[in-house]
Amino acid sequence: MNYLSTRGHADRKRFCEILLEGLAPDGGLYLPETYPQVDTATLAKWRTLPYAELAFEILSLYIDDIPAADLKAICAKTYTAEVFGTDEIVPLRELEDGVYLEALSNGPTLAFKDMAMQLLGNLFEYELARRGAELNILGATSGDTGSAAEYAMRGKKGVRVFMTSPDGRMSPFQQAQMFSLQDANIHNIAITGVFDDCQDIVKAVSNDLAFKRKYRIGTVNSINWARLLAQVVYYFAGYFQATASNDKPVSFTVPSGNFGNVCAGHVARMMGLPIQTLVVATNENDVLDEFFRTGVYRVRAAVDTHETSSPSMDISKASNFERFVFDLVGRDSAKLRQLFVDDLGLTGSFDLSADPAFKQAAERFGFRSGRSTHADRLAMIRDTEKRFATLIDPHTADGLKAAREQLTPGVPMVVLETALPIKFAATVVEALGEEPARPKKFEGIEALPKRVVQLPADAEAVKAYIAEHCD
Ligand SMILES: *Cc1c(COP(=O)(O)O)cnc(C)c1O
Repeated sequence: MNYLSTRGHADRKRFCEILLEGLAPDGGLYLPETYPQVDTATLAKWRTLPYAELAFEILSLYIDDIPAADLKAICAKTYTAEVFGTDEIVPLRELEDGVYLEALSNGPTLAFKDMAMQLLGNLFEYELARRGAELNILGATSGDTGSAAEYAMRGKKGVRVFMTSPDGRMSPFQQAQMFSLQDANIHNIAITGVFDDCQDIVKAVSNDLAFKRKYRIGTVNSINWARLLAQVVYYFAGYFQATASNDKPVSFTVPSGNFGNVCAGHVARMMGLPIQTLVVATNENDVLDEFFRTGVYRVRAAVDTHETSSPSMDISKASNFERFVFDLVGRDSAKLRQLFVDDLGLTGSFDLSADPAFKQAAERFGFRSGRSTHADRLAMIRDTEKRFATLIDPHTADGLKAAREQLTPGVPMVVLETALPIKFAATVVEALGEEPARPKKFEGIEALPKRVVQLPADAEAVKAYIAEHCD
C-alpha cells in the first residue's frame, strides 16, 4: 500500500515513512492510493473476531512494512480489557429502539482519543527501536489530546513528550490527569497565556528547522494517518454489534471538531462497510455544519471561535476536512489546491454550492450534519438521564441531538460516545445538579503531587527547556 498527498506531490510513501510525519512536503495530507475493498465474505469472517484481531485485519490492509506477527502483537498489546475496561473494548448500549451509544471512552484518559493514541504509542516505540532513533513530541493541548498523548507515550522507550497547555485554563480534573504523571519522559509545560499562545509556540519551534532537526521534534496531532486508521476499526466493531447480519445498513453520528473521527467513518464506508448515513455533529463552532448545509466552507477567525461547554469541538477550521474534500472532488489534486491553497489562502473560504460535487456529499458519500447549543446540550443530558438513567458528556450530547434529527426507521443509529461525563463535570452538574460518577482509578487525583513547569508564552523559553531536558 502506497500513500499520496492530497495536493498532488509526486512522491509515494509507505506506512512507516508517514507514521512519524505530519503534513506531506507540499502541505497536503496523506491518504492511501486506494481504499481496500471488504466484501461480504470478509465481513462475515470479521464479525466474530475479538477487537484486537479485528484491528489487526483492518490495519494489515494498510500496513505492509511491518511483519504480520509484529503488527498482530502490537494490536494484542494495545487493545486489552485491562486498558479499555471491557472485553468488547467499545461496547454498544441501546438507549431506545434503534438508538445506540458506542462507548469509546473507557481508555486511560476517558476520551475517544485513547483509541488511536494507545496504538500510536506502541507503533512509535516499535518503529523508533527498529530505526535506533529517538523522537521528542511537542504538542499544545487544551485538554483531551494532550492527556491521551501522555498516557500513550508514558514510559515508552525512545519517546519524550513536551506538552504545553494554557496555565490554569483546563478543568481541574484534566490538569490532575496530566500533571500527576511522574514518568521521566513526560514534561508538562504550563504556558502563561491562552491555547492559541501554546499553538503559536509549537508552530514557531517547528518552523525553526535547525532546532527541529537537532532535537528530532515531532507531533501527534489529529492529521496523523495512523491515528485516523486506528479509528476505522471501531466503526466495524460498532456495525457488528448493531446488526445480526451483514446486509443491514447502519448510520453513525459523530461529535466533530477537526473531522478526524468522522473521516475514519468515511474511510470505513469507502471500504464497503454498509454505512447509510454519517452525521457530523457540531456545537456553536459550526464550520462543518455550515458546509454540509450550504456548500460553503468558511474558516473562522480566532475571535469568532466560541468557547463552549463541549470544548474539544471548539475549532476554527477542521484540519482533516481536506481528506474528505479530496474524495469529494474525485481526487483531483489541482482542484483541491484551488480550494485549499488559492481560495482559502486568499479569502478564508471556498464555495462549492454551485458545483455538482457538493450534491455528492449527501447523495454519494452519505453525509448529513447538525448543530447544537449550550441549551441543547443541557436538555439532552437531562433527557438521557431521566428517560434512560444514563449520564452522557456534553460532546456526546451534541451527537445525540444531531442523531435524533436524522433517524430513519429500521436503520440503527449509533452515536459515538467521545468522552465520559466526569471529564466535563461542571456542565453535567449544571444540567443535573449532581456530580457524575468517577471511575475508581481517578479517585482523589486532584490531591496527587503535580509535575509541571510554568513558562512564559515565548518559544525561546520552550526551546531552552527542551534542549535542557534532551540528554
Ligand atoms: C477530540 C474530540 C472530539 C472531536 O474529534 P475530531 O476527531 O477532532 O472531530 C469530540 N469529542 C471529544 C470528547 C474529543 O476529545
